[in-house]
Amino acid sequence: MRYVLRLTPMVSAEKTRAQILDGRVVADQIKQEVAANVRQLVTEHGVKPCLAAVLVGDDDASAVYVRNKVRACAEVGIESDQRRLPATTTTEELLALIRELNQSEEIDGILVQLPLPKQIDEATIISAVNPAKDVDGFHPSNVGLLAMGSPRFVPCTPAGIIELLDRHQIQIAGANACVVGRSQIVGRPVASLLLQRDATVTICHSRTRDLPDVARRADILIAAIGRPAFIRGNYIKPGAVVIDVGVNKITDPNQAHSLFGAEAGKRIDAIRKRGSTLVGDVHPAEADALAGWRTPVPGGVGLLTVAMLMRNTLQASKWRRAL
Ligand code: NAP
Repeated sequence: MRYVLRLTPMVSAEKTRAQILDGRVVADQIKQEVAANVRQLVTEHGVKPCLAAVLVGDDDASAVYVRNKVRACAEVGIESDQRRLPATTTTEELLALIRELNQSEEIDGILVQLPLPKQIDEATIISAVNPAKDVDGFHPSNVGLLAMGSPRFVPCTPAGIIELLDRHQIQIAGANACVVGRSQIVGRPVASLLLQRDATVTICHSRTRDLPDVARRADILIAAIGRPAFIRGNYIKPGAVVIDVGVNKITDPNQAHSLFGAEAGKRIDAIRKRGSTLVGDVHPAEADALAGWRTPVPGGVGLLTVAMLMRNTLQASKWRRAL
């Protein structure tokens, strides 16, 4: 693919719809690359990587995320070991499982699906995962390495965003990048990665003043907030690249009508059939009218997250054996 980022404002008369950054195409490419590497590892070294996927409690969304990750493992030839614990699990009980997985010779990567039930101390669990098996990149030592500019495991969603930009030939160096959200899993690590790639990075959050003005200066705008369609047209510089990390459910057909423009019909059908439809943190119809590029929800960043988890697991398996 050969695309060039349009950094200059576009004349409105010439403006067409934003181009779509298709997460599925890039995620499929990455998974094919991982699958080829796994086959090589099996043939040359008799090694098959294995990911332990730990799910605690009955959260439906978490169960779907884990199922998708396990399915992706099967697609690329990685073994998976699913561990399901009840919603009443204590920190100590989960720690005991983490210790077992840390010590297991069979396990290369450990994924603990977040969020954990309230009674579990999440920070303690994250710190207990062996940093060499921390394929989510959440352990403090991996966070520190990333902040220092010498990453080992990079959190999957931020790593996927960089892949999406790179594989569409979108220039990061020198661009003004604005990240809205400062979470440990998305906002902060993606800001670190963009800085490492020589973007000029602004991190925004709920206390940022004049957010639309700050966001509108961005050539690359990343929204990781968790509020449906929060980023409106007045936050978007014409021609900007808009990456929508948010995953939110809406249930109101009228809201779907105002958000999805020409595509509202199938979203309204989805609400009628399934009770809800997904929308990101960016207003899709307004982004379409202004942005140069945007990621769809679903079909954007989420697919990359799973693909990068596969790549991290492959990497963990190789590093552990010094391959
Ligand atoms: P989070 O931990 O809740 O963080 C949200 C961030 O948004 C916080 O930094 C918060 O600021 C900021 N924020 C909230 N309201 C704001 C406002 N009015 N103005 C400006 N900033 C505001 O969320 P997260 O875990 O990063 O997730 C964000 C979204 O991405 C969610 O929808 C989540 O489901 C989705 N997600 C998707 C993927 C994927 O693979 N597609 C992966 C991870 C997350 P403060 O820090 O000041 O509170």
